[in-house]
Amino acid sequence: MSRKKIALVAHDHKKQELLSWVNNHLDIMKQCDIVATGTTGGLIVQHTGLPVTRLKSGPLGGDQQIGALIAEEQLDTLFFFWDPMNAAPHDPDVKALLRLCSVWNVSVACNVATADLLVSSPHFLSDDYRAVRPQY
Ligand code: PGA
Repeated sequence: MSRKKIALVAHDHKKQELLSWVNNHLDIMKQCDIVATGTTGGLIVQHTGLPVTRLKSGPLGGDQQIGALIAEEQLDTLFFFWDPMNAAPHDPDVKALLRLCSVWNVSVACNVATADLLVSSPHFLSDDYRAVRPQY
């Protein structure tokens, strides 16, 4: 079974929520290769000890680095707990990242409910489901 490559990103007011969610799904997280934006990744390492490839902080280009992974078909799923209540300086990057998930048919969870459902799918870790990447 090939390991799934996932990205974890949380805006500042959502970091605690993501940390709790990761802790609730540690067994599954251990079976994935994780990349994360800088601050989010640092917190995950600090609080869970999971190995995380840390990219730049979101406002400094981290979201765009994850977008590049998607465009290069190197990411299976994005968990993106963005903050609907506060404007972010890198709002265009946030929009661009969500857009690329639709462009490349990459599964993306923006809240706990969707994230819970995604990882509870029997297909999440298995090789029997592969998202079809569109041919443009
Ligand atoms: P951060 O970036 O993990 O470096 O805080 C997240 C974001 O704001 O996109």
